[in-house]
Amino acid sequence: MSDPQTSTAAAVTTWAPLPWLVAPLQRAMQSRSAHALLVHGPAGVGQFDLALALAEGWLCESTTRAAGERPCGVCAACRLLRARSHPDLLVLVPEADRETLGWTAGSADGGDGGSDKEARRKPSKEIRIEAIREAIVFASTTSARGRGKIVVIHPAERMNGVSANAFLKTLEEPPGAARFVLGSMAPDALLPTIRSRCQSIAIAIPPIGLARSWLAEHGVSEPDVLLAACGGQPQEALAWSRQGVDAATWKALPRRVSEGDVGALRGWPLPMAIDALQKLCHDALAVACGAPPRYFDASLRSDGSRVVPLLAWSRELARIARHVEHPWNVELTVESLVEQGREALNTPRSTGRLHGADSLHLRR
Ligand SMILES: [Zn+2]
Repeated sequence: MSDPQTSTAAAVTTWAPLPWLVAPLQRAMQSRSAHALLVHGPAGVGQFDLALALAEGWLCESTTRAAGERPCGVCAACRLLRARSHPDLLVLVPEADRETLGWTAGSADGGDGGSDKEARRKPSKEIRIEAIREAIVFASTTSARGRGKIVVIHPAERMNGVSANAFLKTLEEPPGAARFVLGSMAPDALLPTIRSRCQSIAIAIPPIGLARSWLAEHGVSEPDVLLAACGGQPQEALAWSRQGVDAATWKALPRRVSEGDVGALRGWPLPMAIDALQKLCHDALAVACGAPPRYFDASLRSDGSRVVPLLAWSRELARIARHVEHPWNVELTVESLVEQGREALNTPRSTGRLHGADSLHLRR
């Protein structure tokens, strides 16, 4: 017999539990009675991975595995699941998130129409009613492989109002023996009645040591820098690294913005550029008020004279962030935000400093 792990390697993308998910996965695996689980925590800690690992654990057909143990990863069910074609698993993710989540199989956001018009429209960021209807039908049919049916919805807070209400009815009167796993970065944004019907599985930001070694294994150099940049969220840090943001880029950002160098953010998607500028603004304000920076290193300098312009910059960044979906001209928007940042970060020449010295300096 060939080794199943190597013979299917091409078709399979594994999601062996991320090291910090092992304990929450074990906890969740043992909650066999709950028909709905809510896996929640800050962004970038692996809610979707845990939801999939749970589905795999429940659907695994290994005969040698004790109940509640991790999935074997090699039985027919595990292999089907890892090839994204298990007939008893339905995954609902917004169309716009599919690539990031590595889930391009199926059409379960209700968004695929196949027509030219469908192909041209912007990928939906919502989990729409069509997808929930599909899930209801899916949940009410018999399990194809006899281990029940699983519906994963992630991020659950992206169900729009109609979807959320239809889903609530499903939770109140489950149509079959299906189990639901909801992933969420913002459980407070869910209907309280949905939250209360789910067993809660919390994932915390992993210990720095685990996150650091995981990022290093994924080829991220100086992982501490990106971890700090991403508030300790390792998946977020990896995503940034894959977008081309490395430690040197991040460390140079305060200086480059204070010099008005728009090139520092060239090619960054707008939400990411705004996020970075908001973090810089946050840290400059913190330092100006005598607190340590959170996202950048201790070389960041600012002083009390910067508080008012930094607050104005902060408000403008928040305004753009709220409307980030608008069809902005990204280049012009970033240029204007960087220009405002340059002004906010630098003490004006009129303060009498020689050479117009900046209030934001960096030790090199
Ligand atoms: Zn298995």
